[in-house]
Amino acid sequence: MRLTDYFLPVLKETPAEATIASHQFMLRAGMVKQDSAGIYIWLPMGLKVLRKIENIVREEQDKAGAIEMLMPTIQSAAHWKETGRYDAYGPEMLRIKDRGDRELLYGPTNEDMITDMFRGYVKSYKDLPKCLYHIQWKFRDERRPRFGVMRGREFLMKDAYSFDIDKDAAVKSYNRQFVAYLNTYARLGLKAVPMRADTGPIGGDLSHEFLILADTGESEVFCHKDLVDMAAPGVVSDDDLQAVVDSRTSLYAATDEMHDADAFAKVPADKQLSARGIEVGHIFYFGTKYSEPMKAAVQTPDGKTANIHMGSYGVGVSRLVGGIIEASHDKDGIIWPKAVTPFDVGIINLKVGDDAADAACEDLYAKLKAAGLDPLYDDRDDRGGQKFARMDLIGLPYQIVVGPRGLKDGVFEVKDRATGEKQSLTPAATLDFITAQFS
Ligand code: ATP
Ligand code: MG
Repeated sequence: MRLTDYFLPVLKETPAEATIASHQFMLRAGMVKQDSAGIYIWLPMGLKVLRKIENIVREEQDKAGAIEMLMPTIQSAAHWKETGRYDAYGPEMLRIKDRGDRELLYGPTNEDMITDMFRGYVKSYKDLPKCLYHIQWKFRDERRPRFGVMRGREFLMKDAYSFDIDKDAAVKSYNRQFVAYLNTYARLGLKAVPMRADTGPIGGDLSHEFLILADTGESEVFCHKDLVDMAAPGVVSDDDLQAVVDSRTSLYAATDEMHDADAFAKVPADKQLSARGIEVGHIFYFGTKYSEPMKAAVQTPDGKTANIHMGSYGVGVSRLVGGIIEASHDKDGIIWPKAVTPFDVGIINLKVGDDAADAACEDLYAKLKAAGLDPLYDDRDDRGGQKFARMDLIGLPYQIVVGPRGLKDGVFEVKDRATGEKQSLTPAATLDFITAQFS
């Protein structure tokens, strides 16, 4: 993409309403614009990152055997009345009436709707287990929307729902999602720690939240230090699922709501970590909490009927955009992990209009694209300082600076955004180096 063709409304000043780095940088880098409290327009570069995160989440769900579908954002209140949640949910739910005075709502989550859908089709144990998911916008009329997309009112969530014949099978489904979450966050370049969690309005008795540690996090967390740097498990066979989950859950980790000071005191002193965290995912096993009132039951092998055991599994896809920036930035701007960067590499032309500089940039741009990469070419006629600042702000992992001085020696300057390291490379070596970083 050429910057002159793109829509990248970068701001020079930090908007006063933004108090944390991710919010400031997302506004300044032209990723999002607030339309009303907690409701955002996703500008082109913000949307690119959102889609990349969404795709990684999707791939890991598919690998875990979950099946994608799409439920609507607007739901009938009837499902929620059946489970008793319509009254229980409170003012966070946006309630709507249509022209016929029928009660609708903008979905804050989908347990009720999917249980209603599922019970209509599935009547036999032979059709279990199943795990279905969608990636869809939610609305929660949060009391205090803040920190940009981190606590929005409209936000994008991946939510999966598992259906099993009994508790043992349901725990297996839960464990499969648990492992999928570890792999998902690792691919996003994040260190997310699973913590024992309260089940809140979803209900149930087995639940973990996944938190990334950040000073600006809204949750207070206590955990064993070793959990933070554990490697992602990768592919795990069904037989090994429980062991992988146990390797995490045997170490102390809890949010303040579930914190047990006596248990935490038993963690060796040099391994005790108390910090702040951002909740980027939450998984629940809640048994028959919804299937019972909704009579979602199947025939068992011995001819009886049994209520389906269910779990639900949320990832805050849009919150992750902010979360990744909180985990990866410096004073100058964002530092994107390669997996989610909006463009792979930036080309800075320091002398737009100069034949040699223009030709070198055009050639490099074409070759990077031919190599399957996604470069952003800053071909705007701005001052060098402005270009460097803008490129640092938007945080692409690599920058290639093309200017008359280097061209005299036949070299470009290649900068690593994360380390700040610079090297002078010939055009051919530049191409080799950049492509190698993404292979
Ligand atoms: P929180 O405690 O942060 O309010 P929650 O426990 O109400 O979140 P869940 O119902 O567990 O949220 O939703 C699943 C995931 O959706 C959360 O882990 C979080 O990452 C994301 N999420 C929840 N509320 C919001 C919001 N207002 N804005 C952005 N993401 C959100
Ligand atoms: Mg939660």
